[in-house]
Amino acid sequence: MLSSDESFDLIIVGGGIAGLTTAVRAAEIGLRPLLLEKGTGVEYPNNSRFSGGIVHIGFHDPYRPPEELEQLIHKLTSGEAKPELAAALAKNGARLITWLQDKGGKFMRFNPQEGYRWCMAPPRALRAGNDWKERGPDLMLKRLVLALAELGGKIQYGARATNLVMEDGKCIGVRGLCDDQETLWKAPYTVIADGGFQTNPQLYEKHIGANFSSVFQRGGRTGFGDGINMVLEAGGVVNNSGNRFYGHILCSDAKHNDAVWPYPELDAIATAGLVIDANGKRIVDEGRSGVHLANELAAKATTEKLFAIFDQDIWNGPGTTARIPANPLLERAGGTILRASSSEELAQLMSVPSEILNQTISEYNQAFENGSLDHLPIKRSELMKPWSINPSQIMAIPICPGITYTMTGIDIDQHAQVLDKSSNPIPGLFAVGATTGGLEGGSDSVYIGGLIKSGSFGLIAAERIAHLQGKPINIQHPKRIGDDSQQSDPASVSTKNASYGLERFPVLRSLIRFGKPIAMVLGALAAIITFSLLPSSLGWLSPLIALGIGGFILIIILGVVELIVLITEFLIPE
Ligand SMILES: Cc1cc2nc3c(=O)[nH]c(=O)nc-3n(C[C@H](O)[C@H](O)[C@H](O)COP(=O)(O)OP(=O)(O)OC[C@H]3O[C@@H](n4cnc5c(N)ncnc54)[C@H](O)[C@@H]3O)c2cc1C
Repeated sequence: MLSSDESFDLIIVGGGIAGLTTAVRAAEIGLRPLLLEKGTGVEYPNNSRFSGGIVHIGFHDPYRPPEELEQLIHKLTSGEAKPELAAALAKNGARLITWLQDKGGKFMRFNPQEGYRWCMAPPRALRAGNDWKERGPDLMLKRLVLALAELGGKIQYGARATNLVMEDGKCIGVRGLCDDQETLWKAPYTVIADGGFQTNPQLYEKHIGANFSSVFQRGGRTGFGDGINMVLEAGGVVNNSGNRFYGHILCSDAKHNDAVWPYPELDAIATAGLVIDANGKRIVDEGRSGVHLANELAAKATTEKLFAIFDQDIWNGPGTTARIPANPLLERAGGTILRASSSEELAQLMSVPSEILNQTISEYNQAFENGSLDHLPIKRSELMKPWSINPSQIMAIPICPGITYTMTGIDIDQHAQVLDKSSNPIPGLFAVGATTGGLEGGSDSVYIGGLIKSGSFGLIAAERIAHLQGKPINIQHPKRIGDDSQQSDPASVSTKNASYGLERFPVLRSLIRFGKPIAMVLGALAAIITFSLLPSSLGWLSPLIALGIGGFILIIILGVVELIVLITEFLIPE
């Protein structure tokens, strides 16, 4: 066995956002990290690189006050998230964004909704398929790799960790394969950041559910569960968090057409209409959330044949609302969409029993009309707005549940330390990112945010290790929304470094900040000048005309200012 003779303070297993954040932060505070990444080449695949790059906490702005975010996580997970993990995320999420900006990462608003405030720039194009190259997350990982090299940290590519080295109950290193050679790496601390176990059939069936073959892999396909296996062998435990995964409903053409995954996801359509199986029957409650529906279908589907049933109104309504919407992008990418003018005709196109499908749809429509959806043989919740189905404009898409990452995972504490059966930290062992559990999932399959969880706990792990090594750490928390009057101005949130966003455009910035008073002064001036220039013969009409012109100028200037805000929010990365 080869043994690395270089000395390191910590070893990190996995080079996604979780592992890279840990490594760069550790190097920044004076530790020497070694990052082991099984992928090779600068564009090694993983979920971080393929992600949409939206950094949020439960689709809320991480710059909200920490107490609010903590309550939000508690509410979203019906109290199932570990309170200490929720508190740590709520406190450190915003800091992750400013820290990434400091490393050269760029963010911009993806759309006007609060949850899309912080999108790694540039965002994905509005098209179906896996559009990751040179997009925000890809650039962010590349920047972190550069930052690590500049700070003296090391990345070993093509190195797959397989076992932890334990001595007297303490983790002192990692064994694995490097370029097919058995290798041993030693360090006082090890951080597992391997991204989860979504591609491992045995682990999936042990911790999530029976039908591994029914789920489609919509991520980097690198999460094989090496981390969780190593930790279990070392005495760690799994936090089951309701045995859930984060995923979405996809068109089942994804199995043979790469142009229709990971986007568009069909959650909005499937949760507005019905989901039926090969027998033409409903098998799950569609109305709770897309992630919940994906989990339920993965658990309950007895056949691989599933369809989302909807109509033209759903197609033109919810079908257009997603970030990368199914209407019209799915069809353009070659995805199957069945259209019919009756449920009988649709049943034929789908090859499902016509009578049963007809009955399923009529029963649903009747319950919808009567307001008795919760009395259907399989209850239909209304957390997601239900729509009636018009059989004369009926449509269907073959679907399958897509898995992104496992939300159940390694049990850790608020410092990212791996816990044993008695909830005591295992000395020398940490875990961060999608490989950990306790914050997401639960009986409602709640997704809190993969990137923010991974990056925030990366910072926390590095800082804890520095603390245990006796290194002084300077932690600066950014201002929050509402901390002072400026922070409520969306254009100024967290732009603390002069080289970011609007800070680089002082004229535009002043226009936005002083737009209202400028508009009022110019409006008043226009009114006075107009009044003084008008002939006195106009009499009482003069003040009216002057006020009208003043008001017009006021509205025009306010409109221009709003347009500038809109354009800068979307176009200028912060
Ligand atoms: C299509 C898609 C869209 C998404 N969109 C968003 C979004 O908009 N917002 C959001 O918050 N989240 C999103 N996510 C989820 C988010 O990407 C993940 O939760 C997050 O990136 C996980 O980071 P990670 O570092 O823990 O894991 P990963 O990014 O998966 O990295 C794990 C790394 O570990 C390496 N590895 C694995 N095993 C070993 C081993 N034994 N030895 C060495 N290396 C190993 C892998 O090769 C990989 O590079 C999305 C995911 C996908 C797939």
